[in-house]
Amino acid sequence: MRYITYNAKNFRKIEYLRYLPEEVKKEINIVSKVIPFKTNNYVVDHLINWEDYQNDPVYILTFPNKDMLLDHQYKKVKHAVENNYEKQDLYRVINEVRMEMNPHPANQSSNVPKLNGVELTGMQHKYRDVVLFFPSQGQTCHAHCTFCFRWPQFTKELDLKFAMREIDQAAEYIRQNEDVSEILFTGGDPMIMNPGTISKYIDYLIEARIPNLKTIRFGTKSLTYWPFTFLPEFNPEAQEMLNMFRRIVDNGYHLAFMAHFNHYQEMQTEVLEKAVHNIRQTGAEIRTQAPVLNHINNHSDVWARMWKMQVNMGMIPYYMFIERETGPFDYFKVPLAEVYEMYQQAAIKTGSFAKTITAPVMSAAMGKVQILGVVDNPADGKKYFMMQYVRHRDYRQTFQPFFMDYDEKASWVTQLREVKPQQVIA
Ligand SMILES: *Cc1c(COP(=O)(O)O)cnc(C)c1O
Ligand code: SF4
Repeated sequence: MRYITYNAKNFRKIEYLRYLPEEVKKEINIVSKVIPFKTNNYVVDHLINWEDYQNDPVYILTFPNKDMLLDHQYKKVKHAVENNYEKQDLYRVINEVRMEMNPHPANQSSNVPKLNGVELTGMQHKYRDVVLFFPSQGQTCHAHCTFCFRWPQFTKELDLKFAMREIDQAAEYIRQNEDVSEILFTGGDPMIMNPGTISKYIDYLIEARIPNLKTIRFGTKSLTYWPFTFLPEFNPEAQEMLNMFRRIVDNGYHLAFMAHFNHYQEMQTEVLEKAVHNIRQTGAEIRTQAPVLNHINNHSDVWARMWKMQVNMGMIPYYMFIERETGPFDYFKVPLAEVYEMYQQAAIKTGSFAKTITAPVMSAAMGKVQILGVVDNPADGKKYFMMQYVRHRDYRQTFQPFFMDYDEKASWVTQLREVKPQQVIA
């Protein structure tokens, strides 16, 4: 299968762009200065309904549009582009706008672990039993989702020597921290690496035989953006990838493939179904997660249908997130109250297997907070959010419900005030 990358420089070559007015193409060019734009021929040719591009979820997920920037931000960048600013000056403008977009949400830098006093910058250890590992060669994606603001960490490809030192240190760190039983490969998208590269990391881990390491996870959007990664009939390297999965399983590890689906429209191709089948054949389980996004999937029917399709293919719904306060957040955000109600409806519609999902969840500074419900208090006639941490820096604080003030407009936990139980009951 031929792989064509489209980015801000060559996107005008996309044949389907004939559906777009010239004005819209100019807007893409301007907004993409701030919101990184990149996609490929599979997404463009198979996942987007171009005749109705304005309302198409995958189009909106892929192509930045004017409304994703605030008015003054758009004008500022447009001015710089149209007046042919020098590279340096243009970069300064772009950077100013980006800095207004909260590029480092829920500051993660305090999670960087240390090995023998030295910081391991390619890792994060926030929750007792699991470490995140950011292989340096997996810090980009097949396509950039417009809502995602991981650009501060999207770096250039690094050499394999560097990668080997990274995994060597990660293995040693896990060995020294016996509470850690899982490693989660994340990015970017680790599945953007070719199987040869990723196998170097994995085989190192397997050979290290770390007694406390039981689970290997990959967080990836490759099933959506390039399913050929797992289809030997289209891609000669795919068998090597599947063999590597099998090697993980055969060596006694629990292998979880954390797939990211934003809309069922990403799941309707035959190649996707085949890829899911091939991955499951290796003994890996596939769990699914995604954020709720205005303009893309903010409807219970979308989630109900998506979860049913996932379950029918043998995948396990895992997390439904609330969109982080970063990037084009104003465009994509949905108030917590609305997300909760939408989740409730979707779960009712889905039935049995929707119960395996933890939802809706915010990845906040102290941990992952789940909204458990909106509760009416007959004593004061007011509503409250009931929440709990399902993940917390201090694991002893998980699964302990608490109350927060209700605000139908709030879209993140920090906008609410915690209420003590006695206040609520009184
Ligand atoms: C979500 C997350 C994990 C994984 O959490 P699970 O609940 O085990 O899926 C690990 N580390 C960080 C920093 C995370 O945000
Ligand atoms: S694939 Fe994941 S990491 Fe990459 S741009 Fe999309 S959401 Fe972000």
